[in-house]
Amino acid sequence: MSLQGKTAIVTGSNSGIGLGVARELGKAGANLVLNSFTDRDEDHKLAEELAAEFGVTVRYIKADMSKGDECRALIEKAGACDILVNNAGIQHVAPVDQFPVEKWDAIIAINLTSAFHTTAAALPVMRKAGWGRVINVASAHGLTASPFKSAYVAAKHGIVGFTKTVALETAREPITCNAICPGYVLTPLVEAQIPDQMKANNMGRDEVIEKVMLDRQPSKQFATVEQMGGTAVFLCSAAADQITGTTISVDGGWTAL
Ligand code: NAD
Repeated sequence: MSLQGKTAIVTGSNSGIGLGVARELGKAGANLVLNSFTDRDEDHKLAEELAAEFGVTVRYIKADMSKGDECRALIEKAGACDILVNNAGIQHVAPVDQFPVEKWDAIIAINLTSAFHTTAAALPVMRKAGWGRVINVASAHGLTASPFKSAYVAAKHGIVGFTKTVALETAREPITCNAICPGYVLTPLVEAQIPDQMKANNMGRDEVIEKVMLDRQPSKQFATVEQMGGTAVFLCSAAADQITGTTISVDGGWTAL
């Protein structure tokens, strides 16, 4: 399928799932707006590399997704927004009674409230263009919980509820809103945790992956950033025109347990 002429904004897309989603949308022909809160040479170089690889226009726009005005400015600066992927996210792990307040606030702001601001700014642009796709990167933790991840689980359940509401508000328009719910995905962030887990559990790499990291993922395989990107491309296809307000789990069976 071709997304030629469409512009996709992917928040938190200088690494991991966001970058994987941006790459697949670019491969399908969409012009891209990459984003993170940094403004490094390598961020802009990444945009140049993707533009050369896929023959599309790619811009990098710095915006801190913990700040509402910067979320809205991202959409305005992009100048177009046919596809909005709300992906930026952070994690912190601690029991509720010891959970640092500033971590709770940051997780709710970046993983949930940012999507409210970007979507609010993007919908009028999509309505004017007569077509739009809002894709929220939620998580298996948008559908089920784990201990010590209260803020993350609350934010991800919140984004699933937000997805349904936006879908109902746009149901009579050529705009859809859905959430992708990944299980464990081998992003650089997750890869970096493996050596520590090997030490802490006195296990080899394969054992840590199977028994610790993929404990709740029945396939015993990581999902990939390419699979997240492919799912996003599918949600942008005509086959998905009537798919709205729902979640698509890409979690190796986690939420079937
Ligand atoms: P990652 O750390 O590789 O990517 C997170 C991205 O968000 C980065 O580009 C980072 O720069 C950006 N970001 C962080 N804070 C930001 C801020 N204040 N403003 C703008 N950008 C900011 O992690 P990832 O694993 O690729 O996670 C991406 C999304 O996927 C998150 O929403 C995460 O919750 C979700 N997710 C990840 C997994 C997994 O196993 N990796 C599983 C389920 C859901």
